[in-house]
Amino acid sequence: MSQILSLRAEVQKLVEKARAEKHIKTSSQVEVYLTGILGSKDSESLSALLGVSAVNLMGIPSTSALEWNYESSLELDNGPIGIALGPATHSQCPRCWLYKAEKEDSLCTRCDQVTQAT
Ligand SMILES: [Zn+2]
Repeated sequence: MSQILSLRAEVQKLVEKARAEKHIKTSSQVEVYLTGILGSKDSESLSALLGVSAVNLMGIPSTSALEWNYESSLELDNGPIGIALGPATHSQCPRCWLYKAEKEDSLCTRCDQVTQAT
């Protein structure tokens, strides 16, 4: 999946910018917004591939809605892809440390399922 690799490289560039300007420490603290045709990948597998808190495929929010943001675009086989990077809207999960929890001091969905199963 070379398309995903070029997308990941582009997102990584934006992550580096955000890190250089001290908005974040790791890519797990960002949320990515994408527009365009990305094949059959869903947001959950994309966020894992990109190593970010979440991937939003519903479009790019107006920049004033975000605390900070970086934008870019990419030309892939299926057409142009719009990329925006903003702060993670989720809280840090106290169990796996990923920014995937719905609210402060609560577990993310995955950890919640794991702890319920035991
Ligand atoms: Zn978790």
